[in-house]
Amino acid sequence: MIRVDDLNKWFGEFHVLKSLNLDVRKGERIVICGPSGSGKSTFIRCINHLEAHQRGQIIVDGVELNEDVKNIEAIRREVGMVFQHFNLFPHLSVLENCLLAPIWVRKTPRNEAIETAMHYLERVRIPDQAHKYPGQLSGGQQQRVAIARALCMQPKIMLFDEPTSALDPEMIKEVLDVMVELASSGMTMLCVTHEMGFAKTVADRVIFMDGGEIVETAAPGDFFTNPQQPRTREFLEQIL
Ligand code: ADP
Ligand code: MG
Repeated sequence: MIRVDDLNKWFGEFHVLKSLNLDVRKGERIVICGPSGSGKSTFIRCINHLEAHQRGQIIVDGVELNEDVKNIEAIRREVGMVFQHFNLFPHLSVLENCLLAPIWVRKTPRNEAIETAMHYLERVRIPDQAHKYPGQLSGGQQQRVAIARALCMQPKIMLFDEPTSALDPEMIKEVLDVMVELASSGMTMLCVTHEMGFAKTVADRVIFMDGGEIVETAAPGDFFTNPQQPRTREFLEQIL
């Protein structure tokens, strides 16, 4: 589903991603963790071309990401993204947030888009909030709307960038529960998160990044009980 080969990116002189390699199979769940500033966000943002890379190759569902706008548009339709700060449109209702991309990007008829949106709002357990505005919702509810909104485009891949980091502790579980359910539905997922409980139950592989490199990749069982690299051990000691 995703092939990343020798991915390199610079911000000016700063080499932020250093020769990353990753293959993700359909339905695989990958958790990416690592210290702040290690390049996790930049990496997943490259996968839907919110950031451009300078060297190496990214192929998503058979389409190579390059400067070809058609390819970028094709991949963005297949890849949903959920951000730390929800990024909902504040002036649109929950339902309208969910309709925007299907109607304007996918050209879905409005009635059909509403049906799909209500289906996903039910799946994230907030159909009753459909006519409220984001500002009237709790953080946990807003993040569930953001997940529903991404799912309305019926993506093949979902990217999550620290989706629970901005939430009060009591709201983390309601968002993780939705993500766990999504994982069990067979969605291909890349999640940047420090929720190690989530990683243990859901991830097929855990990737540890530091200093713009993938330092270690392992199944969660091995990753947590028997990390191979000193940098991974040090990181785990700090967060566990
Ligand atoms: P993480 O998500 O792991 O915390 P990021 O991918 O956000 O890390 O950032 C990796 C590094 O790149 C950091 O040193 C950060 O300051 C730098 N960086 C991120 N975005 C930009 C940008 N737009 N311009 C310049 N430097 C950036
Ligand atoms: Mg980040």
